[in-house]
Amino acid sequence: MIEDYTKHPGFDDHKLVQTVHDKDTELLAIIAIHNDDLGPALGGTRMFPYASYEDALTDALRLSAGMTRKAALAGLNYGGGKAIIIGEPKTKNRELLLAYARKINRLNGQYITAEDVNISVDDIEIMAEVTPYLCGRSDATPKGSGDPSIMTAFGVFRGIQACLTHLYGNSSVAGKTVAIQGVGKVGFRLMRLLHQNKAEIIFCDSNPHMVERALQEFKGSKCVPTEEIYNEQCDIFSPCAMGAIINPTTIPDLKCKIIAGAANNQLSSPEDGHSLLQHGIIYAVDYVINAGGLINVATEIKLSEYDASQAKRATAKIYDRILYILKQSKTKTAPPHEIAEEMVKEIIDNARRMKEIKRKLGLI
Ligand code: NAD
Repeated sequence: MIEDYTKHPGFDDHKLVQTVHDKDTELLAIIAIHNDDLGPALGGTRMFPYASYEDALTDALRLSAGMTRKAALAGLNYGGGKAIIIGEPKTKNRELLLAYARKINRLNGQYITAEDVNISVDDIEIMAEVTPYLCGRSDATPKGSGDPSIMTAFGVFRGIQACLTHLYGNSSVAGKTVAIQGVGKVGFRLMRLLHQNKAEIIFCDSNPHMVERALQEFKGSKCVPTEEIYNEQCDIFSPCAMGAIINPTTIPDLKCKIIAGAANNQLSSPEDGHSLLQHGIIYAVDYVINAGGLINVATEIKLSEYDASQAKRATAKIYDRILYILKQSKTKTAPPHEIAEEMVKEIIDNARRMKEIKRKLGLI
């Protein structure tokens, strides 16, 4: 176990990283707060049987830093945080979730959690019995916004429209071919929006049940083996499964003009962003295009009663952000991920300056 997390390669000036244990339930979790200059750290809790504590720490550090970027460019007054419960999801039980929620309370609202991989809306409801520092409540409760992937998919759809506008001067997906990698919670809903709007759809999924469900629902769509998705001739490649799929091995295979999908951390390294620019492929920065779920839960926190139309209006603006970044990328001949990074830095620096002024004036 790494005692000094500041020595970890994933450390990026994180504000706080806490390992929490509970003997009775055998809870072992890491809560990482990357930055709170814009507000309390917001980000989901995932449960996963990591091979080692170091692997879990790597994810906690990397994912919490990603949340800072996502919130900043979504215009939200939240910082970046993420938590990992280390363990086999099958061992998840009520007592473990309650013990974990009590640990969140000890941070007094510095960290607000939500659902993530292997943590469901039902789990959030159990945690809500002991902590107020959470969001993404069940839509059966008056305040709850329910499953965030609906809004994530809508945001990705808006991002695709922005890419098309940038390239063709027209946002219509009709007749455009979209290759979707992964038709799970987000990919399936994105597929529905694309299908309704008359796009041609190619897709793959490593889970045969997901393939069957998509084929049943969307007549005319074409399923390809997972390893062939990169080679498909298409207008848009939409990664909606896992990270690091844009890398030196896959880039030469790509036959798309646009990459726009929900997956987090799509580039295996920043160099891949430069490589895409050289290959003439437009990249919709992952943490900008997939912010719909975060915008949704932030809307839930803000309102005493959740209003889906307000969340949808806020998510629709992903279109403007992607379009702006692509225009800047073209003007400066710089890859979109670098433009986005610069914008994040500016937003955080400004927030820091404001905080400093308020502190000097005794306002905080
Ligand atoms: P999910 O687990 O519901 O769906 C992922 C799908 O990808 C599954 O159906 C799985 O079988 C499939 N898959 C896994 N490996 C694959 C492979 N090698 N090739 C093809 N298919 C594969 O997850 P999700 O919630 O839909 O999220 C998808 C991605 O978007 C993830 O990277 C997630 O971190 C990211 N994301 C999700 C949200 C959200 O609101 N759910 C928000 C932001 C980002």
